[in-house]
Amino acid sequence: MKKHNFYAGPSILSEYTIKNTADAVLNFADMGLSILEISHRSKQFQAVIDEATALVKELLEVPEGYSVLWLGGGASMQFCMLPYNLLRNKAAYLDTGTWAHNAIKEAKLFGEVDVVASSEAANYTYIPKGFTVPADADYFHYTSNNTIYGTEIRKDPDVPVRLVADMSSDIFSRPVDVSKYDAIYAGAQKNLAPAGVTIVIVRDDALGHVDRQIPTMLDYRTHVKKGSMFNTPPVLPIYAALQTLRYYKMLGGIKELEKLDLQKAETLYNAIDASKMFVGTVTDPGDRSIMNVCFVMKPEYKDLEKDFVDFATERGMVGIKGHRSVGGFRASLYNALPLASVEALVDCMKEFEAKH
Ligand SMILES: *Cc1c(COP(=O)(O)O)cnc(C)c1O
Repeated sequence: MKKHNFYAGPSILSEYTIKNTADAVLNFADMGLSILEISHRSKQFQAVIDEATALVKELLEVPEGYSVLWLGGGASMQFCMLPYNLLRNKAAYLDTGTWAHNAIKEAKLFGEVDVVASSEAANYTYIPKGFTVPADADYFHYTSNNTIYGTEIRKDPDVPVRLVADMSSDIFSRPVDVSKYDAIYAGAQKNLAPAGVTIVIVRDDALGHVDRQIPTMLDYRTHVKKGSMFNTPPVLPIYAALQTLRYYKMLGGIKELEKLDLQKAETLYNAIDASKMFVGTVTDPGDRSIMNVCFVMKPEYKDLEKDFVDFATERGMVGIKGHRSVGGFRASLYNALPLASVEALVDCMKEFEAKH
């Protein structure tokens, strides 16, 4: 039985991505060699990274003056690399979850950090509103999608300073006005590729303004100058990313992906809202993530939570157990997840509810 894959990350990839990547592991670009055993400086791999870079720029409509980098170290590496390169005196951060919290901790190593608002006291069940970003901040950092808590900011914030965003778990699910950003970063393993590569989109003019010494590998300028080839980049994840990007383009680009994502999320949220047994954990419906849907059993059904996970598992659902800091359930509906999987989960919820 084909599984319905709701894992939060690493997570579902399109069959197109997996099949083509598997083929290249056996024979890459008709070289008679595996992609695992060739030089990253071969012209065949150079063509891969060039096309992948061009497709990121095309799909996200990245304006002139920005570089797209393919780096190791995960999104977590960017928590320090970013302030290393961009924080001169003070930066503003919005605390909306564990990942934002981790980013704040690292930024404090490099300068003053103004946490403009936090929903931590309410276990991050909402996105803070009405906060003020100081006009003298070097940038405003936010996490566009809070993977663990199921909240999302789907509009580029209007603040008086340049934007920086961790888009690890919702990149390519909505159009972004990149011109408002100094940097956007995203670990690949949610909406793009297997773990091992992180995309950074950085405004070239934002670099070179800090006084501190930056170690070569942590200096964005190294990777801008060398086209992400200063050292060996994560070759296989970049190849897989290229397949996903081609697939996104074939589907019609970001606007089409967003339509599909909205439809999937609406299908599941409608079922949760109509249910007598399940309830969403995010308090304001406007904050609900279309990528990670978090829900629990109402108090009177709480003791059935484990039974429901078993029931869903028997029906081919995987990865619906909620993160330990939220409990209950989390269904991740990344771009590669078909609507049919969401419908199967909804049927499963209805069937379970009818039984109890
Ligand atoms: C998964 C995730 C991270 C951590 O990514 P790593 O690549 O494991 O470091 C950071 N931010 C967000 C929003 C995430 O979803």
